[in-house]
Amino acid sequence: MPFKDFIERLSDVKVQKGDIPVWWLYTVGNGGEIFYNGLKEGKIKGSYCENCESIILPPRIYCEDCFERIEKFVDVEGPFVVLAMTQSYLDLDGNPLDKPQKIALIGVPDAKGGIIHFLDPDTEIDTGDIVEPIFNEDRVGSLKDIKYFTIKK
Ligand SMILES: [Zn+2]
Repeated sequence: MPFKDFIERLSDVKVQKGDIPVWWLYTVGNGGEIFYNGLKEGKIKGSYCENCESIILPPRIYCEDCFERIEKFVDVEGPFVVLAMTQSYLDLDGNPLDKPQKIALIGVPDAKGGIIHFLDPDTEIDTGDIVEPIFNEDRVGSLKDIKYFTIKK
């Protein structure tokens, strides 16, 4: 079959078994490294664009609005606001969950961007609510260092 022909029937598909020696290393980038190291310390880091006078969450090393290089990084203390939320009834493999997971886009007023993370499954939380991150005791520099966000006390 010439290369430019389209496969129209599944029976026309051929399988070639074997291994392809491919490897890769994914880096989180300079801004991501600051963000994940901050999580390891129990902090949420953002970058501060001195030109726009604005905080960007998660941190970037260049401002996406004015293209200035950013060299100032700050601890973002909040208030963290639920900007949007949804519930998932399936895990990443498509298996039903015992209890739905609440997932939200969490932002900070006057800051650009936000974090997508889980919400406290045992608390009623809605869009616009002020929440706070609950960090795990043992942190490794991962988004999972935050257990979830729950209503701020
Ligand atoms: Zn800027």
